[in-house]
Amino acid sequence: MNSALEVAAQKANEFLDRLPQLPARARATAAELRGRLGRPLEPAGVPADQVVRDLAEDVRGGLHGSAGGRFFGWVIGGSLPAAVGADWLAAAWDQNAASYSTGPAAAVVEEIVGEWLKDLLGLPATASFALVTGCQMAHVTCLASARHALLGRRGWNVETQGLASAPAIRVVSSGRRHGSVDRALRMLGIGTDQVVEVPAGIDGRMDAERFENALLRGGHVPTLVVLQAGDLNIGAFDAFAELIPIAKRHHAWVHVDGAFGLWAAASPRRRGRLDGVALADSWATDGHKWLNVPYDCGYAFVADPASHRAAMACRVDYILYASDVRDEADWNPEWSRRARGFPTYAAIRQLGREGIADLIERCCGHALALVSGIGGLAGAAVLFRPTLNQGLVRFPVRRAGATAADHDRHTDAVIEAICAGGEALFSGTTWNGMRAMRVSVCSWQTSAADVERTVTAVAQALATVPA
Ligand SMILES: *Cc1c(COP(=O)(O)O)cnc(C)c1O
Repeated sequence: MNSALEVAAQKANEFLDRLPQLPARARATAAELRGRLGRPLEPAGVPADQVVRDLAEDVRGGLHGSAGGRFFGWVIGGSLPAAVGADWLAAAWDQNAASYSTGPAAAVVEEIVGEWLKDLLGLPATASFALVTGCQMAHVTCLASARHALLGRRGWNVETQGLASAPAIRVVSSGRRHGSVDRALRMLGIGTDQVVEVPAGIDGRMDAERFENALLRGGHVPTLVVLQAGDLNIGAFDAFAELIPIAKRHHAWVHVDGAFGLWAAASPRRRGRLDGVALADSWATDGHKWLNVPYDCGYAFVADPASHRAAMACRVDYILYASDVRDEADWNPEWSRRARGFPTYAAIRQLGREGIADLIERCCGHALALVSGIGGLAGAAVLFRPTLNQGLVRFPVRRAGATAADHDRHTDAVIEAICAGGEALFSGTTWNGMRAMRVSVCSWQTSAADVERTVTAVAQALATVPA
């Protein structure tokens, strides 16, 4: 056991130390990885330390530099050292964080972490919470609570009666919502056909009048409203203080997708973007993005604990329940589960309130510097200057008569050239009908030097792609 863990620590340290020299994008092909990792299944097994050593060798070239400072693709944070250490311990301790009786310290840590998170995110202290695998399952947990409450008001107990012949639930949301919201609607039997889409403006926000008109159409039916705290292209926030009171007048349940954007609340300078967000009924966010906790780590919060518990609780007669400690299985969609409270606990303790605010501010500052730096290069154009940690640039063709499709193709070609160069990784997106490069900064590792190195790399990539 000892030597396997020592090899793991050594290999992890080697990897992290070499990160600044490694390409940001994995270079190995699937065939190479299959060739190395597809070892024969040994009948008699392999010594533990050798398994770990082989694994660390065999994945060579197949790992992205997402733990490092020049990874700006999708919305992906790094991992804080204390959180990685606590994650290793969570695995070594092997507690089942289903309940206090199956993992006492894990249950108590989750109690503490839930209170810390509500405090940091400016959510009601009375809200219930769950630590789940990611924002996807946070949506499922929150929307299951919504389903319970909305149908309960119609005299329908969805937990016992199911959905057959239940009243349909209408969903009002903008076209900018994340795909994980739709998947939660699928998993919960609400169905994506129930979504009434309110077009978002160029600023990514829903217009209040159009929003209210959508609520008025279709009359008085159970309604779920999904608002956005930080969309993945430009980090747009819906106008919570304006929209939530409207939704409440129509008796809707308001859910907020704040996968990364809810963390703006942790910075005094950005908190204003979230004015009114605490009026919602449920909130979903991630630890593995902006808090820089290793995967898998998401958080669900529900203003009405009774609805949350009614949707999730699962009690069995072979567990003893403590009356004065929170049992995770009352709030989570899982039964046996890893003690995922430990890494969050460690991340929050390492940074402290000020450290988290500083992390948020630093990322926003680096995102702005990247977009400004890249936007200042010949052959680049700024599409959206970050107001949070997300920005957009485009690489138009410098040729008279070039069409929109030419600009799109060239933008994708430049993104590919940047990624192939290995200095930095960005992902593409389509925004308002245009191809664009997304600049997303979520990592505690990103420094001003990384920004500089990246802008230089983008300039070099631009020079190599024929316009
Ligand atoms: C990443 C993301 C999600 C999904 O979160 P997971 O943690 O990947 O499940 C949902 N909404 C937004 C806005 C996101 O950025």
